[in-house]
Amino acid sequence: MKFEFAELPYAYDALEPYIDKLTVEIHYSKHHKAYFEKFTAALAGSEFEGKSIEDIFKNISKAPAALRNNGGGYFNHNLYWQILSPKGGGNPTGKLADAINKDFGSFEAFKTKFNEAAANRFGSGWAWLSVKADKSLCICSTANQDNPLMDIADCPGTPVMTLDVWEHAYYLKYQNRRPDYINAFWNLVNWEKVSDNYSKALA
Ligand code: MN
Repeated sequence: MKFEFAELPYAYDALEPYIDKLTVEIHYSKHHKAYFEKFTAALAGSEFEGKSIEDIFKNISKAPAALRNNGGGYFNHNLYWQILSPKGGGNPTGKLADAINKDFGSFEAFKTKFNEAAANRFGSGWAWLSVKADKSLCICSTANQDNPLMDIADCPGTPVMTLDVWEHAYYLKYQNRRPDYINAFWNLVNWEKVSDNYSKALA
């Protein structure tokens, strides 16, 4: 399996005013790119070379820290950029909306729970919406660059949506106000993409 550094699906300034141009530029072209490069370097010649990212994460407890941190950093940011869009926001529809209502009670209750997961992650990490093995939805957060596909995760599942709550994701614009960044995020969620991820996770 050969991994690639995917193009950002929009311009650096496309997420303004919710996420500023400089933050997106540095986050994608410096932070994300560095994870990608360190991931492929750590993979080269290792016993994990040639495996899918899912297989790598399933055995991450046996992998060196460089693979865990940088493989997570590579994968997590790919999902993050994909589920954001300048045309995002609003409400989910269809089967995803039905599942959110069923598993969380309402869209508002879902948002509250996701916001809490993002706000309460101490230090650096990620908030997740995932599909569990029983096909229900769950919200959780992970530290550093861990994710729910990893065998060390205490909230295992297939991620369909994520929010980066590392300070590098918001500090230039929001400084210490992580909750303002979390609230702004909802204006950017690409529900079509999240729905698509949800359908694939069910398949
Ligand atoms: Mn990040």
